[in-house]
Amino acid sequence: SLLKDYGAEDKVLVSIRIRPGDAPSVWQRTHKNIKLDPQCGKSPQEFMFDEILTGSENKPVYNAVARSHVCAAMEGYNAVIFAYGQTASGKTFTLSGDEDQLGIIPRAMKDIFAYIRRTPNREYLLRCSYLEIYNENIHDLLAPHSTSTTQPVQIHGTGPNVVLTPLREEVVTSLKSVREVLDRGEGNRRTATTDWNERSSRSHSVFRVVIESRERGSGGSSPDGRATPSGRQTPGFRPPTPGGSRLQARGGRSVQTSVLSLIDLAGSEKATSDKDRTREGKYINTSLLTLGSVIATLGENSAKNKNDHVPFRNSKLTRMLQPSLSGDARISVICTINPSKDAIPESTSTLLFAQRIK
Ligand code: ADP
Ligand code: MG
Repeated sequence: SLLKDYGAEDKVLVSIRIRPGDAPSVWQRTHKNIKLDPQCGKSPQEFMFDEILTGSENKPVYNAVARSHVCAAMEGYNAVIFAYGQTASGKTFTLSGDEDQLGIIPRAMKDIFAYIRRTPNREYLLRCSYLEIYNENIHDLLAPHSTSTTQPVQIHGTGPNVVLTPLREEVVTSLKSVREVLDRGEGNRRTATTDWNERSSRSHSVFRVVIESRERGSGGSSPDGRATPSGRQTPGFRPPTPGGSRLQARGGRSVQTSVLSLIDLAGSEKATSDKDRTREGKYINTSLLTLGSVIATLGENSAKNKNDHVPFRNSKLTRMLQPSLSGDARISVICTINPSKDAIPESTSTLLFAQRIK
């Protein structure tokens, strides 16, 4: 199993992806180290991360920083993959990709369906949701536009018992049905806004898959060995609320529940500039800083084997993700940077964020 590659100290995988640029990159890198080209500015610091990635190929990126997390999610662990970086540094390219270069989301879903086919002794139920956090309001991107604007999603409960309502969850059974869900969400996101680029750089988008499975029983209730058809649940298979518990007894057979969250964060330039005095800018600031604090604290706490004093409650994003970030969750943060000289201050601040959570 890929899980063998994980030590407990590898709870958070932090990688850097440098996108291609018009001019040669101002960053010098080796497999794990990165530093500013001395000719391009004075920054004596050399940073070290789990991976430094370059180029336009999304497959090696998926294999290096996402595949084992997806596998962990199939084995019952909660997993979260973030893309962090300034606007236009490649977050969406990395997570969603384009027609030529599929990103992490479609590759993850492809792997999930392949895993299900390889595991005939278990039955699976996959439920997707797609939401956006903008100005500390959570919008369900799968709800019709009118509902999503009038009725923001609320977070109820705390700790491992966080529940989001009202939130649409679509049962998916094929890559095609995932594509439809993503396209619908994307469409709703675009119609909800007049300035798409501005909105996407100022909001976090969260694609979530709840993965439930149980061993096939004798006289099993699911006839066909696959995830259930769209819109229906396997009779007798009442999904528990996703909360990160790995095994729960249900009617004699244990149901394993985990959540895979794939998150395209708001542009990090808003998190470091004092110039941005808008409401959006302040919210982005708070939520990205809180995310950094939470992940940094989780790393420290896992060493001490306790989980208190983590400031989950300071932002909607971290509150919502609390069940997925605590415990034995697997976290991958891909920090994207623009290789140009103009972007040095932003890229440096991204590297400092990455270093802080490492
Ligand atoms: P962000 O989501 O961080 O704002 P995008 O992913 O939209 O940035 O990237 C900005 C532009 O750069 C897009 O046109 C995208 O296709 C391109 N791009 C980003 N990263 C890469 C890459 N690694 N290789 C090739 N093109 C890229
Ligand atoms: Mg983007």
